[in-house]
Amino acid sequence: MGRRDDVALPELVERARGADPRAVARLITMVESGSPGLPELAALLVPDSGYAHVVGLTGAPGVGKSTATSALVGALRRQERRVGVLAVDPTSPFSGGALLGDRIRMQTHATDAGVLIRSMATRGHLGGLAAAVPLALRVLDAARCDVTLLETVGVGQSEVDVAGSADTTLVLLAPGLGDGVQAAKAGVLEIADVFVVNKADRDGAGRVAADLRQMLGLGGPHSAAGSWRPMIVMTSAEQGTGIDDVLAAIAKHRAWLDGADRLHQRRVRRAAREIEGLTLAQLRARLGGVRHGGALAELAAAVVERRTDAHAAARLLADGAIPPGSGPSR
Ligand code: GDP
Repeated sequence: MGRRDDVALPELVERARGADPRAVARLITMVESGSPGLPELAALLVPDSGYAHVVGLTGAPGVGKSTATSALVGALRRQERRVGVLAVDPTSPFSGGALLGDRIRMQTHATDAGVLIRSMATRGHLGGLAAAVPLALRVLDAARCDVTLLETVGVGQSEVDVAGSADTTLVLLAPGLGDGVQAAKAGVLEIADVFVVNKADRDGAGRVAADLRQMLGLGGPHSAAGSWRPMIVMTSAEQGTGIDDVLAAIAKHRAWLDGADRLHQRRVRRAAREIEGLTLAQLRARLGGVRHGGALAELAAAVVERRTDAHAAARLLADGAIPPGSGPSR
C-alpha cells in the first residue's frame, strides 16, 4: 500500500478528471473500503457531481444483465459516448475492485479508453450502499462519463436501493428461470422506467411482455397524469438485437426527465436519501453497539435498571446530547 498513498488525493482526483483508469480504480477502491479520506474526496468531487446520466440495470440473476450491459456499452461507444460501468454487489465483502463473477464479456471493452469499468462490493461498509454508490458514481462523473451503467449483481432489497441511485432504471425480465412478471420481487416492478424483456430469442418472451402490458394497464403508481409510463423493450442481448431500442427508450426517458425540472427533483430526493443515510451511519457509529460499551450500552443499562425509559433515552441521543467519541469509532 505504501507507494499507493504517495499520491495526494487532489492529484488523484485531477488524474481521474483526465480519465486515467488507474486513478479512477484507486478512488473507487477507496470508496469501497470506506477509507478515512472519503470526506475529503467527497468535497473534492463537488464540481463534478451529476455529469453522467446514470442508468441502473436490475433483475434476477441469469436474466442477462451482464450481457446487456456489455451490449449497451458497445452501442453507446458507437455513438462516441464515454461510458462508465459500476457493477455493485451488495452481498459480497470487499472486492478490491476486482471484476466480479463472469464478467469475461466485458473484456472486449477492456482496452477501450472510452470505457471505465469497476466493480464494488459494499457489505459491512459504514453507511452501506447509501454512502458508497453515490460517491463512486461521482468518481465516474469526474472522469466525464456521459453515461454510467449501474449494474446490481446481488439480489434483494438492495436492488431497489441501488436503483434509487439511477436517473433511469431498467428492470430486466426474461422467460424461464421463474423470473417472469409473477415471480418478480415486490418493489422491483415499481421502480422500472423501462422494462427490458431479454432473451427474446426464446419461447415465452412474448408472454412476459404481454403480462407486463396487462399489469401496466391496470393502473398503479404510474397511472397518474403527467407521470412516466414505463416502456417495454424486447431484446436479445446475446445477439445484440433490440439494444438500440433500449438506448432510444433511455433517451426518451431522459427527455421526459429534462422537462418540468424532473431530473433536478429526482436528484434532490436522491441527495436527501444520501444525507439521511450518512447521518444515520454517523449516529450509529457514535452510539456504539451494546456489546462495545458506549452511549447506547450505558443508556440501555439505565432503562433496564429503571433509571430512565427508552423514549427519554432516544430523545437524548437524537438531540445530540451524547458526547462525541463516546461510541467506538469504526
Ligand atoms: P446476469 O446474471 O443477469 O448478469 O446474466 P448474464 O448476462 O450473466 O446471462 C446469463 C445467461 O443468459 C448467460 O449464459 C448468457 O449467455 C445468457 N443470455 C444472456 N442474454 C441472452 C439472450 O438474449 N438470449 C439467450 N438465449 N441467452 C442469453
